[in-house]
Amino acid sequence: MNRSEFLKICGVLGIGMPFLSHCTSNQAKAILKPGEKVIIIGAGVAGMSAAYLLKKRGVEVTVLEASSTYGGRIESDKDLADFTISLGAEWLHTSDPVLESIVDDTSIDLDVKTTAYDFELDYCLDAATGKKMNLKDMQLSESDLRFTNSSWMDFYETYILPTIKDSIQYNQIVKSIDYTGDLVTIETGKEVFKAQRVIVTVPVTILKDGDISFNPPLPKKKKEAIENLNLYSGCKCFIAFKEAFYPTMVRVQDDGEGPTRVYFDAAYAKSSTDNILGLLAVGNLAKPYLELQDPERIHFILKELDDIFDGQATPNYLKHVFKNWSEDPFAKGTYYPDFSPKTFSGVKTMSRPVEDKLFFAGDLYTDGSNGWSMVHVAAESAKKTVEKLVGKR
Ligand SMILES: Cc1cc2nc3c(=O)[nH]c(=O)nc-3n(C[C@H](O)[C@H](O)[C@H](O)COP(=O)(O)OP(=O)(O)OC[C@H]3O[C@@H](n4cnc5c(N)ncnc54)[C@H](O)[C@@H]3O)c2cc1C
Repeated sequence: MNRSEFLKICGVLGIGMPFLSHCTSNQAKAILKPGEKVIIIGAGVAGMSAAYLLKKRGVEVTVLEASSTYGGRIESDKDLADFTISLGAEWLHTSDPVLESIVDDTSIDLDVKTTAYDFELDYCLDAATGKKMNLKDMQLSESDLRFTNSSWMDFYETYILPTIKDSIQYNQIVKSIDYTGDLVTIETGKEVFKAQRVIVTVPVTILKDGDISFNPPLPKKKKEAIENLNLYSGCKCFIAFKEAFYPTMVRVQDDGEGPTRVYFDAAYAKSSTDNILGLLAVGNLAKPYLELQDPERIHFILKELDDIFDGQATPNYLKHVFKNWSEDPFAKGTYYPDFSPKTFSGVKTMSRPVEDKLFFAGDLYTDGSNGWSMVHVAAESAKKTVEKLVGKR
């Protein structure tokens, strides 16, 4: 089952209907007592969103981030082009007003625009057959949007980060969490931190590999869920060309079920003079790119494009940037577009707190009602976790 089919079934079954989710949230009482502190592990979308919402409610928050910067899997590059290159998440996979919901402040005037593909004009070239395909055959719909002259990172930097930037501590790689006492003790190898409640937002691969030890160990159900969840290996590459010789999308391989190998016009919806072609390769289809190192890798990519576009890639090449997500020590993968019931049950299990001390938020720690493995879902899960802690406004 792919993402669109899954969401259709959710709609039919009423999973995620606003009425149902509001009912459950309204019944929840605030867990956090006055004066209690919260430590958030990870400054990706879920960690930043949770910190922002808690700070807005007057809660003292510290975010411990392993890497030297914020963003996690919305990491960006600002050097290759005259617009922000999204090395991780790029599309907004919903037309719901989620950006307003993330900012959660009606006094703030949001200035973020999105662009849908033009399904009449834009097309995908199938590299194997040389035929034009409709973008809808690439599992894209009117609700798969591109940020207009913006990106997920630009959005977070503009609207969320200013509120929380002083609360983030970088290069703090959390190694252990002890929740035996009234205060949860967190060790990073550099320092020890204590708080009444902790929100864990690290990718599931970090928990899977045991990079963080828990005392007492996580409950059996959580361990099983972690076992059943994963992130696909993968990478992204962005290449600057003198001329744009390519259409909106080029399918190299994609079965619509998760693993993908696709080139796309990364300057689509940007007022840019740069011609930037993106490559997204995920799962077993990423193998050819992950196995090579530059300069062999970029030669391989240019040859692949030369074969499709009659030798136009190499003479037009200017420069490129490559991101190997499988080798990122704090991500260890990309996303998990597996919409099986086992995964659905796993993400739901992961979203539940342990002893009202350990809380979870992130793209695979959700109630599953709106899918998973997407930025807006990670943000939404943070909001639901914050509501568990401080109650719903
Ligand atoms: C290549 C790629 C393409 C994608 N495309 C899209 C897309 O187009 N649209 C979309 O909606 N989604 C997309 N996604 C998925 C999306 O990026 C994620 O679902 C979302 O960003 C996850 O946010 P998160 O906060 O749950 O996790 P993360 O962003 O992974 O944040 C977790 C944070 O925890 C930190 N951390 C890890 N270990 C430790 C530790 N031990 N101690 C302290 N901190 C730690 C990490 O450094 C990171 O900052 C894509 C992802 C990738 C990789």
